[in-house]
Amino acid sequence: MKRFEAAYLRLTAWYVAIIMIISLLFSFWVYTQARNELRVGLKRVIELGPTFSPAPFGSTAGGAAAFVDDRLEDSRRRVITRLVLLNTVVLIVGAGASYWLAHRTMRPIEEAVEAQERFTADASHELRTPLAAMKTEIEVGLRDKSLGKQEAVELLKSNLEEIDRLGSLADGLLALTQADQPAPRKAVLLHEVAGTVIKRIQPLADEKRLTVKRDLQPTTALADETTVDKILSILLDNALKYSPNDTTVRVRTYQEDEYSYLSVIDQGIGIKASELPHIFERFYRADSSRSKSHVAGHGLGLSIAQKLAENLDAKIMVTSTPGKGSEFTVRFTTPA
Ligand code: ADP
Repeated sequence: MKRFEAAYLRLTAWYVAIIMIISLLFSFWVYTQARNELRVGLKRVIELGPTFSPAPFGSTAGGAAAFVDDRLEDSRRRVITRLVLLNTVVLIVGAGASYWLAHRTMRPIEEAVEAQERFTADASHELRTPLAAMKTEIEVGLRDKSLGKQEAVELLKSNLEEIDRLGSLADGLLALTQADQPAPRKAVLLHEVAGTVIKRIQPLADEKRLTVKRDLQPTTALADETTVDKILSILLDNALKYSPNDTTVRVRTYQEDEYSYLSVIDQGIGIKASELPHIFERFYRADSSRSKSHVAGHGLGLSIAQKLAENLDAKIMVTSTPGKGSEFTVRFTTPA
């Protein structure tokens, strides 16, 4: 991302500075060590020199000292050249590696910023639709000089609906941000939570003459009661919304292998295979629910449910046949 370029470069500069400080300190240590070793070594050879070969460095003490200085200067130059070469290589390789590392370090931050921006853009888009509808209606109403009381009441009613939409969107957005907070897990009786949620939504089911069938086997999951309640409420709410009148919605809890399951099975409109991979995306609504059936919603429910499930290490799975119905299953781990 271009706008992060300055940050990459600054981070790279810091990494390179750290690498070079270490490399230069190390080089300085190598240099002093090498010089001292050489000096001691040469002195020792001079002392032993006459024993091994007569006057190898010149016959006088002054000649030997000059030889030592000469050799030292020569070696010093060679050590310095090598260390300069080594540090140049360290600088070049270090700069490349630092730039790569800076990219890696910044990637999660970049992704978080991108996600935040996408979220803001999506939320503003969703907010704009009801606001635009309200604005148009009010403007038309104000322009109409012959607006009667009945029409004014209709207009206010319609605005109230949009305000309700905005309210539920605000609730959804808040729930989505709060869904990130991890919940402590303990043993939860899924069948009991399911019983409570079914009881709560029963009036909604009655409105559509839907039968909610309980198939609740005693099931314990490693979860959090409030979170399970929220997940099931979302799944059941969808099952009711996307089911035609006089059908049946079945809620199942059961244990299988080392997992605990909670399923909501409906005989509703179903979801096309091409749309299934997207239904957990924020603000995504399948075509059928947007256009054909005009079901209320913002496309936030399933993304909230998925986040909540992830916090519990649970997984939501879905199978669906358009025109026949859908089955949403949450798989939980079982307490040890
Ligand atoms: P909302 O229901 O507010 O649109 P959700 O995130 O809960 O948002 O669902 C996303 C989409 O998935 C819905 O718009 C709908 O198209 C589809 N969907 C979810 N549950 C069901 C269901 N039980 N039956 C059919 N379609 C469903």
